[in-house]
Amino acid sequence: MNRIAVLTSGGDAPGMNAAIRAVVRKSIYHQLEIFGVQRGYSGLINREIIPLELGSVADIIHRGGTILRTARSHSFQTPEGQEKAAAYLRERGIEGVVVIGGDGSFRGARVLEEMGFCTVGIPATIDNDIPRTDFCIGFDTAVNTVIDAINKVRDTATSHERTYVIEVMGRDTGHIALAAGLAGGAESIIIPEVPFSLEEVCSRLLRGVKRGKRHSVILVAEGAANAVSVGQGIKRLLQMEVRVIILGHLQRGGTPTAFDRVLASRMGGKAVDLLLANKGNQALGYWQGEVRGSTYEEIFNSKKEFLWSDYDLAGILAI
Ligand code: ADP
Repeated sequence: MNRIAVLTSGGDAPGMNAAIRAVVRKSIYHQLEIFGVQRGYSGLINREIIPLELGSVADIIHRGGTILRTARSHSFQTPEGQEKAAAYLRERGIEGVVVIGGDGSFRGARVLEEMGFCTVGIPATIDNDIPRTDFCIGFDTAVNTVIDAINKVRDTATSHERTYVIEVMGRDTGHIALAAGLAGGAESIIIPEVPFSLEEVCSRLLRGVKRGKRHSVILVAEGAANAVSVGQGIKRLLQMEVRVIILGHLQRGGTPTAFDRVLASRMGGKAVDLLLANKGNQALGYWQGEVRGSTYEEIFNSKKEFLWSDYDLAGILAI
């Protein structure tokens, strides 16, 4: 293994830059030649590979987004596109590839693996929806962004004695909503893992009002319900003033938390160790206090665990 490349693919996540930095610096430390592929798998097809040096990754550990840019590539999902990508990698003498992204990006990495390259996947997605890891890079930052929003909303919610419905991201999962709801003391958390009942949300609200609560924050995961409809439903059933906030792509940006930077640095370092040992077909995860590798197959065949005990606890603490 002499030459390796790193790319970021799919949805961006804060901490991707810290992972790129770790891959680049660890590679150079081990005298590997390191290249960056721009715009994910599109860059392999459109011939966008650039050499990276120590200075290329200076001053990025604290920045959200990805200096390599990211993209979704339909061409890479066709045999012709994949052949073109592999031919370009071979032409550049690249044997190993680190793929930083989500589940879809790992599927792309497996394709490269099958075409004879040694690949390691690093899980980076704010949705935290990848199995065999407790945390994906970016999740902690996104949750902190939501907490920050809840704190601010609470100030005005308390002053005006209002109910706020806040919609958060998470695709078809409720991991962000659950963690932010527990940490932010949300009165209700609406997530796709639990069938949505407007009546249940309203009865929780009423219970709070009866014991003197004058404001509430309800978190809705984007995959569970539409926050505007939830707001309208509460207004209709309880004749109560409700404001709706959709946080949207705010949650994708911002300076990564210390946790995400440490996780990204550890995973970037481990990815290079695996490639040096010619051990590909690995997706990294952080569980039981350590960064560990799983095969892509293990990832694709596993189900992401949902923290039901946290969900139950959040319900109890918000009474
Ligand atoms: P994420 O990695 O965040 O889950 P996507 O699902 O959009 O994001 O996947 C990112 C990219 O990975 C896609 O645009 C495509 O280029 C590649 N990809 C996804 N699924 C496959 C697949 N089954 N085979 C080959 N490439 C894939």
